[in-house]
Amino acid sequence: MVWEGYVGRFAPSPTGPLHFGSLVAALASYLDARAHGGKWLVRIEDLDPPREISGSSARILEQLRIFAMNWDGEVVFQSARLSAYRHILQQLERQGHCFHCDCSRKRVNALDGVYDGFCRGRELASGPNVAIRVRTNPELIQLTDRIQGDYTQNLEQEVGDFILQRKDGLLSYQLAVVVDDAAQGVTHVVRGHDLLSSTPRQIYLQQLLGLASPSYAHIPIIVNELGQKLSKQHFAKAIDCANASSLLASALRSLGMEPPPSLNRTTPSLLLEWGVEHWDIQRVPKLAKIME
Ligand code: GLU
Repeated sequence: MVWEGYVGRFAPSPTGPLHFGSLVAALASYLDARAHGGKWLVRIEDLDPPREISGSSARILEQLRIFAMNWDGEVVFQSARLSAYRHILQQLERQGHCFHCDCSRKRVNALDGVYDGFCRGRELASGPNVAIRVRTNPELIQLTDRIQGDYTQNLEQEVGDFILQRKDGLLSYQLAVVVDDAAQGVTHVVRGHDLLSSTPRQIYLQQLLGLASPSYAHIPIIVNELGQKLSKQHFAKAIDCANASSLLASALRSLGMEPPPSLNRTTPSLLLEWGVEHWDIQRVPKLAKIME
């Protein structure tokens, strides 16, 4: 189903239950959508089975329900959309934007994160153990993030030709997110600052495919006292649903809002209602990270 008007989304990867950082990301996208009278979709980004923790998709949806963040329509699972991604990948290949690459991980790692175009002119055939990359160019990609302001990247120099399909056949996040945001009619993306540097890649794919770009807003990511992003790798605790209201109040504070003391003992849904009424994206700290 394609929605109209403001369409936002929360797109968690099922690598574990929600922790405080992902709760804040869910909340920011929810509040921005509802404050605009928009739709809010949930998409489970389960494209990478080796990283998936079984049961976490159901757990995340359950946590969102407990926090009263009710989504519109059906939850979309990326694992059910592989043929749509392959179709678009073939389109990019037919249009001559892609090439095959068999560079080893060791070689690529030695390049310090910027692929040097080594396989661009090699005309390798497809096959097992061959990745598909999209060719980049030195034109600057510029966006004005609603929170962080202007952001510019020279994709060729700062990222290099990037992967659309990995050597093991898995499709990349960059490809899937562009295909899905377009297919679902997403107009506004609100997500963590760690994805700001991916946004020019997504805008570039949108340009190649003739798709409109949504507007972007990147909220600070929540870090622990060591400055590490809260994540499963860094042993972030799952949010404690028994404490939903006080966690939600803390999440609101991380976004620059101060719920009044009269709401101290209230329900998640009343806190959310207050949040929607008082949401002002300009109050969100214009920072890459903030402490939990
Ligand atoms: N699935 C990504 C994550 O959990 C978020 C993708 C997005 O919001 O574009 O980090």
